[in-house]
Amino acid sequence: TCGICVDKCPFDAIEIINLPSELDEEPVHRYGENAFSLYGLPTPEPGNVTGILGPNGIGKSTAVHGLAGEMVPNLGDHERDGDWDRVLDRFRGTGLQNYLESLRDGDVSVSRKPQYVDQIPKQFDGNTRELLERTDERGALDELIDRLNIGPVMDQDIDSISGGELQRVAIAACLARDADFYFLDEITPYLDIGQRMVVARLIGELADDDTGDRSMLVVEHDLAILDLLADTLHVAYGEPGAYGVITDPKSVRNGINEYLKGYLDNENMRIRPSAITFEEHAPRVTSRSETLVEYPDLRKSYGDGEFELRVEGGEINHSEVLGAVGPNGIGKSTLAKLLTGDLAPDEGELDFALDISYKPQYVEIDQPMRVDAFLSSIADQFGSSYWNTEIAQPLQLERIMEQNLTDLSGGERQRVAIAACLSDDADLYLLDEPSAHLDVEQRVRATTAIRRYAENHDATVMVIDHDIYMIDLLADRLMVFDGEPAERGRASPPQEMRDGMNDFLADLDITFRRDERTGRPRINKPGSQLDSQQKRNGEYYYSG
Ligand code: ADP
Ligand code: ADP
Ligand code: MG
Repeated sequence: TCGICVDKCPFDAIEIINLPSELDEEPVHRYGENAFSLYGLPTPEPGNVTGILGPNGIGKSTAVHGLAGEMVPNLGDHERDGDWDRVLDRFRGTGLQNYLESLRDGDVSVSRKPQYVDQIPKQFDGNTRELLERTDERGALDELIDRLNIGPVMDQDIDSISGGELQRVAIAACLARDADFYFLDEITPYLDIGQRMVVARLIGELADDDTGDRSMLVVEHDLAILDLLADTLHVAYGEPGAYGVITDPKSVRNGINEYLKGYLDNENMRIRPSAITFEEHAPRVTSRSETLVEYPDLRKSYGDGEFELRVEGGEINHSEVLGAVGPNGIGKSTLAKLLTGDLAPDEGELDFALDISYKPQYVEIDQPMRVDAFLSSIADQFGSSYWNTEIAQPLQLERIMEQNLTDLSGGERQRVAIAACLSDDADLYLLDEPSAHLDVEQRVRATTAIRRYAENHDATVMVIDHDIYMIDLLADRLMVFDGEPAERGRASPPQEMRDGMNDFLADLDITFRRDERTGRPRINKPGSQLDSQQKRNGEYYYSG
């Protein structure tokens, strides 16, 4: 290893070819002796959306405390109080100079959306209307409520609304304020793709408004949305908890390409042993493989028909990864529970004897038990070198093995739950929203772990998720849900990727093109020439 990391190499002890040159300099901020150090700062630009792409614990919030003027960076000398003139000297002649000058002069106001919206009900007692009313500084609240579809929960208590509703309320509260600098720490958790697009558009419009001097800084792990949303991008790398380096700004296209490639060009820095690649063309239609299970048409409704799901009969093939996509509230989790037998259909019968290992959408593992004790009670192979390589390492479990389940963060809990699901010996592995709470590097690793597990074990996997990059990298075929959320849903039979993506994206009115250099999917600007042309040709995702 390279000798920088105090604990363990974040990149699985692969050779790090170049040390970051930033580490020769003093950090921008250091919390204390041997404490976390931050190198580099993101550059807010008036009229622009600046993205940050990188893991959690890498110093993003630290940077924002600095940029918001809540803390003066100490330039690495934790025994000396920071002072703005020293910081300004350090950044003179860079893109940050103007911003830091207004900050020193006390001319910057900040609006922030926190990462964990689940914490909001603990801090606020009241209903949605009461929470939002006090944020309406620009007279834009009504429009935000309308476009984010918050109307139905305006009079509901904040502690009674769902994660997706809370996320949209938190975003509305942040954007309703009149500020110079907006910081949004993740915008997509709990939101479906249609809702993610709406939020991306709202942020872009605010950056572009008449004042022209608002800066937006967004941390986001959904690469398709980040790509659509950001004008420039900083990649953050390092060792979470130990040190973090925030690169100079890159164009969003180059930043994401370099990230996926695993190599940062300007920094001359390898951040991952191998590149992440996408298939430009739909996977070839496979010669029918063996069928794992066939199921008939099904129907399931709740209460007196408040919501009804209709499932068209189909078959799941042996050894495939089946993706499932659709808006929130359309019945995806309901189908998962029908398959596992947790719910019984009103019509149709599921009489197969399949062992199903199921990771529910809302992970509830909160016994007072250590992670290692919990996992060893599930995984026969727990602790074997095979289990360590295939499951513990890619899901980064080593460091949290001795913690209690009750003390885990959302992302840690998710990784333990994925590990538990894959460790069970089953015929079908069913994962409901595995990307939730994971940072972008963890998503990449989890995707690789699931894919590799499926291939090595001839395992059959079904994955419900909203992250298009994750679905693209994982799925062999696709099941598409449509209908009217919270009223009625319809699930298509599993389809080939090309047909499935076309159905799904036509419903959302979104097309993708391919990046010329890397082949990765990029969302087309709505109404652009390419967008219209692809819609005419019915090529929403794959071309040629
Ligand atoms: P991110 O926002 O990227 O998740 P943070 O900036 O919140 O990361 O934290 C980076 C690191 O700095 C973490 O290891 C965190 O524990 C540490 N840290 C944050 N605030 C303080 C503080 N006030 N004192 C000491 N360490 C801190
Ligand atoms: P998705 O997973 O696609 O987001 P779900 O299957 O969780 O959707 O839910 C579909 C609809 O059924 C939603 O409107 C939800 O509120 C409703 N619903 C889910 N579970 C129940 C239940 N146990 N009782 C009544 N309604 C439910
Ligand atoms: Mg669900």
